Amino acid sequence: MPREYPLEKVRNIGIIAHIDAGKTTVSERILFYTGISYKIGEVHEGTTVMDWMEQERERGITITSAATTVFWIPTYRAGNKEYQHQFNLIDTPGHIDFTVEVKRSLRVLDGAVVVFDGVAGVEPQSETNWHYADEYRVPRICFINKLDRMGASFEKSLASIYERLTKHAVAMQMPIGAEAHFKGVVNLLEHKAYEFEGEHGERVVEIPIPEGLKKEMQERRHHLIEKIVDNDDALLSSYLEGKEIPVEDLRRVLRKAVIANKLVPVLCGSALKNKGVQFVLDAVVDYLPSPPDLPPVKGTDPKSDAEIVRRARDDEPFSALAFKVATDPYVGNLTYFRNYSGVLTRGSYILNASKNRQERIGRIVRLHANERKEVEEVYAGGIAAIVGLKDTTTGDTLCAPDAPIVLEQIIFPEPVIGVRIEPKTKADQEKMSTALHRLAEEDPTFRVAGDIETGETIISGMGELHLEIIVDRMKREFGVQANVGRPQVAYKETITQEAEAEGKYIRQSGGRGQYGHVRLTVKPLAREKGFVFVDAIRGGDIPREFIPAVEKGVREALEKGVLAHYPMTDVEVTLYDGSFHEVDSSEAAFKIAGSIALQEAARRAKPAVLEPIMKVQVIVPQEFLGEVTGDINSRRGKIEAMSDRANVKVVDAHVPLSEMFGYATELRSMTQGRGSFTMEFSHREEVPANIAQLIIEGKKK
Ligand code: GDP
Repeated sequence: MPREYPLEKVRNIGIIAHIDAGKTTVSERILFYTGISYKIGEVHEGTTVMDWMEQERERGITITSAATTVFWIPTYRAGNKEYQHQFNLIDTPGHIDFTVEVKRSLRVLDGAVVVFDGVAGVEPQSETNWHYADEYRVPRICFINKLDRMGASFEKSLASIYERLTKHAVAMQMPIGAEAHFKGVVNLLEHKAYEFEGEHGERVVEIPIPEGLKKEMQERRHHLIEKIVDNDDALLSSYLEGKEIPVEDLRRVLRKAVIANKLVPVLCGSALKNKGVQFVLDAVVDYLPSPPDLPPVKGTDPKSDAEIVRRARDDEPFSALAFKVATDPYVGNLTYFRNYSGVLTRGSYILNASKNRQERIGRIVRLHANERKEVEEVYAGGIAAIVGLKDTTTGDTLCAPDAPIVLEQIIFPEPVIGVRIEPKTKADQEKMSTALHRLAEEDPTFRVAGDIETGETIISGMGELHLEIIVDRMKREFGVQANVGRPQVAYKETITQEAEAEGKYIRQSGGRGQYGHVRLTVKPLAREKGFVFVDAIRGGDIPREFIPAVEKGVREALEKGVLAHYPMTDVEVTLYDGSFHEVDSSEAAFKIAGSIALQEAARRAKPAVLEPIMKVQVIVPQEFLGEVTGDINSRRGKIEAMSDRANVKVVDAHVPLSEMFGYATELRSMTQGRGSFTMEFSHREEVPANIAQLIIEGKKK
């Protein structure tokens, strides 16, 4: 079967938003207007199509990043099938604990719609997600939602995008009416005004431009056109000559600028009141890239490490990235992948290049939210899911066996919080390890450590809610009941200076002996760099076959730091010398020697404890500002900024996670329930000496 859609008509996009900005409602409306869903569900009733996992319904948030395929013809081409486009919507979560999901979806999507609450404007998490999108150079359009709400302002929200996110933001529209009287939008490019009729606003109707808006509209339109023509010499000179530039040309140049991340169109509306969402879909077609609009994907040859480039074409060898592994109650294991090049066919063999294993492709499904459609093949640029892959985890590269490539990895943050977890009964004990193992496979920021048998299992993740949801899923999906301890900070250890040490493991009395001997140096690395092992052995002081064993010993020793048994990180280890014995040397002996040497070197390298520092934003009425900032200082927090929003104060601060437990309750009592806050992981820092001492003595959790 040939491809249904030319690649230029495919859009792989995600909708990103701060929790409650209206992402679910917008997605719902998209499914409705594109004809996938015939029923508009209200989020609070828990019927929303995209939120198909139960606990998401209960919590009203979206956790998984399911991919959904829909079709759209721009409204200005209504009825003309030739202009039909295929969108693969990659769902991104709203809650900050799931930033990792946002990150991995950003890695595979080509463009994004960023949704804002028209009352709150830019919120802290919008900033975080925006920066992630910058990191992956994802072209974006913005949608200022909820303009029907009291206190909503297009103007102010646009200004907050401009001030806090990007100077490339440019308004494409103007609202007609405000708050309860918000009725429609003016399209600045087309010079036209629209309202939305029908029960769900499904009919887009052109209306005359309201008299009172005409002047402002002219000004805004000039501003928009200037921004656009700046990107094209030919258009710029006709503009300067005073010529009217055709809308088609403006669209074309704007499209180029958006794809190059030079402009960010801003649209507006109210998803709940069914206003404006169709124009978001039009903007996706007009301005967000199709796969061939983007630079070819890069990877490395797993054998030679040479760089390989793959273009988004069906005639290139197959390459894809597995961006999510999920356990589906009906079909089992689903591996969502983004196809970067070539064609994946049912029944063929592929290579998981990250794990160097071949797997056979059984069924392939394309998802329409709660409905699956089996497909025979997936073309370049496509997104779908493979059923029943065994060894593939999130972030793995899948490719044609005869054209191996490893695509750039997704880097995930290390967990910051852990809880002890214990099965309730003997029966739970057996199932718990399977459950935790499966959940860890799905989610690279969720880790399991320790031993279920001895009741010493610690699960760790990116926040309290993250772990709560894991425990909840364990109960629902795997039927495992567990007792959960109090959350504890996931400290780490590191070193602060260079040092060297020797490790010897020599036993040569009676029977077969043991001989392992190494010399190594340790050196501090920058934060979040993890572990680097350098093999500097020249001339066979240690035979090659024993070097991996030394590295293994070093890695094992790093698992338990020398101060308080927290894992060590941000360390470079160079193995530079050693000796061996013809008969007595073994892998086991070199592993132990490596481990001894590392521990000794770490002790000499002024070890330190690292703690997670959170980015915290508190919103309070003016009268509580003094008390709230004083309290943040007493929590070892650093106030980074204070600003005004409507009639409240916004405090941005960095605070150690260990000082934030129970903050919600305290903030409530300090502010008579009128303060609110958000928090997310920022970075790790060395713990001050007096506190490090408490941690080492086990007195501080
Ligand atoms: P999400 O958390 O970003 O997925 O946001 P939801 O779509 O769940 O919306 C959060 C809340 O805002 C829900 O109660 C919605 O009904 C409401 N909401 C969404 N869009 C609008 C809108 O355009 N206007 C108003 N007034 N409320 C909205």
